[in-house]
Amino acid sequence: MPVRPKLKSISVLRRPAEVVLIGRPYELTHLADEDGAVTTLLQVLAQGSRTVAELPTAMRERGFDVTEEEMAAAVEALDQAGVLLRADGDADLDDATLRRHASNLRFYDLYSDLRRTSAGFHRAMATADVLLLGAGGMGSGVLQSLIGLGVGRIRLVDCDVVEEKNLARQFAYGHADVGRNKVDAARDWAARYSPGTTVVDTVHERVSDADTVRRLGAGASLVVSAIDSPDDIQLIVNEACFDLGVPFVTAGLLYSTIFYWSVEPGVSPCRLCLELNREDQGATMPHLAEQTVAVSGEFVNRATGPVAQLLAGFVTLEAARYLTRTDPPVAAATYHTFDLVDGMRTTVDAWPRHPGCPLCHRSPEA
Ligand SMILES: [Zn+2]
Repeated sequence: MPVRPKLKSISVLRRPAEVVLIGRPYELTHLADEDGAVTTLLQVLAQGSRTVAELPTAMRERGFDVTEEEMAAAVEALDQAGVLLRADGDADLDDATLRRHASNLRFYDLYSDLRRTSAGFHRAMATADVLLLGAGGMGSGVLQSLIGLGVGRIRLVDCDVVEEKNLARQFAYGHADVGRNKVDAARDWAARYSPGTTVVDTVHERVSDADTVRRLGAGASLVVSAIDSPDDIQLIVNEACFDLGVPFVTAGLLYSTIFYWSVEPGVSPCRLCLELNREDQGATMPHLAEQTVAVSGEFVNRATGPVAQLLAGFVTLEAARYLTRTDPPVAAATYHTFDLVDGMRTTVDAWPRHPGCPLCHRSPEA
């Protein structure tokens, strides 16, 4: 069936002798339009009811004599500018999916074009299978956001029970859940919130070694690491994800600074590369290596509700980039930080592959 190109729901500004299309916030397209032909074509394309072959007739009815070749070239240029989608892009989704995922689909419109449809991005999410390590402050929020996005399957792993102190920031749980296993309470929340959207498999188990991650993650599309112990857990997950061949995303909070990053084994530098880079730096900075801790305070958790939600949001957005490939992942081997106290300062720092990394060295792309 021939494609009927449709102008996305975007702002189109008319100025003297030109139109400006605002496809995405940083993607403005200026088109010369002395005689109004471009504006007329955009008005026709906004209807999304014609194939390229039918456009010359529609334009002639509006006083513009154009050829099919000119229309094909114009549609190609507008598609390159990212302002067109397929009018029938959602046609193969059922009504319940269209209602339930309306805002998800309209978000995907920002990335769709005449080849990639929003329905296709949704299907990538709906067939994804995520291993989610941790159902605490970050993990329970990631669970909620992934289910909102309609991810097909989540394997949720946690060994804790719900405590009263969790209610400050873990919104999948209520007072009635205090004392229950978090994975059971989270599964019940998912069943109440959106029955039939996501299969939630639960594992009440502590994760402290790579074998466990490999076993739980076999066949998964992605791993989200939302646990912070033992101390080397991210190196453990890093190693296991190399064997599984799947990316992983993680985040954390230090004082008032949110940070998140991800690794795509065989494509990006890995977490062990960062560790080895730091060891090299330490070797050239003996004054740092020689420092000892003078006073060690007790561990406190400063993650309030909005902080936990931000962490979960950043992690889920990065996870969604891997699962749908709307955009390339932004945090692959790249530390993103947001300081919540000192004026919301942000930093973005990529780390390089370490020449001696045994994991990256064994991957074919390295
Ligand atoms: Zn590496």
